[in-house]
Amino acid sequence: MFAPSGTGVSRTFRVSIFRCYVVAAALCFFAAGLLVISLQYASRKELANRLDQLKSLAGARDTRFDEIARERSRLQRELSSLASFDDSLRVIHDLETVPADVREAGVGGPLTNITQMIKFGRDKNVDDLELALRQAQLQNDSFGEIITAQTRTRHIFDHTPAIKPCSGHICSGFCWRRNPIFGGVQFHKGIDIAIPTGAPIVAPANGVVTFAGMKGGYGYCVFIRHGYGFETRYGHCSVLTVGEGQPVSRGDIIAYVGATGWATGPHLHYEVLVGRTHVDPAQYILPDYLID
Ligand SMILES: [Zn+2]
Repeated sequence: MFAPSGTGVSRTFRVSIFRCYVVAAALCFFAAGLLVISLQYASRKELANRLDQLKSLAGARDTRFDEIARERSRLQRELSSLASFDDSLRVIHDLETVPADVREAGVGGPLTNITQMIKFGRDKNVDDLELALRQAQLQNDSFGEIITAQTRTRHIFDHTPAIKPCSGHICSGFCWRRNPIFGGVQFHKGIDIAIPTGAPIVAPANGVVTFAGMKGGYGYCVFIRHGYGFETRYGHCSVLTVGEGQPVSRGDIIAYVGATGWATGPHLHYEVLVGRTHVDPAQYILPDYLID
């Protein structure tokens, strides 16, 4: 029933129950459609947001890869520079240079799985970093070998006669000469250094005293075994300050100059032997600037 105001007339409309169902169904269908559209819109917006995030992550990853590529190039330049330095050091220490193909492949280095350390996944940068790691390990091994060689070289040098045992000038060389006491031509197996009695005599290299005492024409003398085949002898001393079996270092005072034994005056008779063969001691007196 319908009654408009002010007319006093009322009208009656009849609506069948079927039409009510149709209208209700239409309204439900409309609401469901609206809901589906809303859900699709929300889903697409979520996908769009996710896509933006992925694009952002991809951009950050590309930036990171670019940084890694730059660092890789810098690392390879540093390794190349170290390789050149390494070659020079190995030549100095009489070691074979590392073949270029071995150095290039980094053979000998550990195969550390750096892939697991990098979250971005595997690409050429990762392969190159693994190679650089092996090359760096090879370089490290080579430097270790050089240090060992350098230590050995230093040890050899420390045990090689290298300084004049006392000041004064060389008055008789390593040569044939007329014996000043007995006459006749005789080979002089050392050098004579003229210097007043009491001047200190120092060891020209590290070693161990093998004899200290009186011995024939040497008079009071000291023999030192240095290792590597070197032996030195010091004759005509006045006072000995070392004993047999005593280790000495280069520069240690071992005796004082005198004129004992077959000597015409105070001087040091100095001999150097290599492999039990006498050699010219003058060849084992290096300039001061070569000695520490
Ligand atoms: Zn002599």
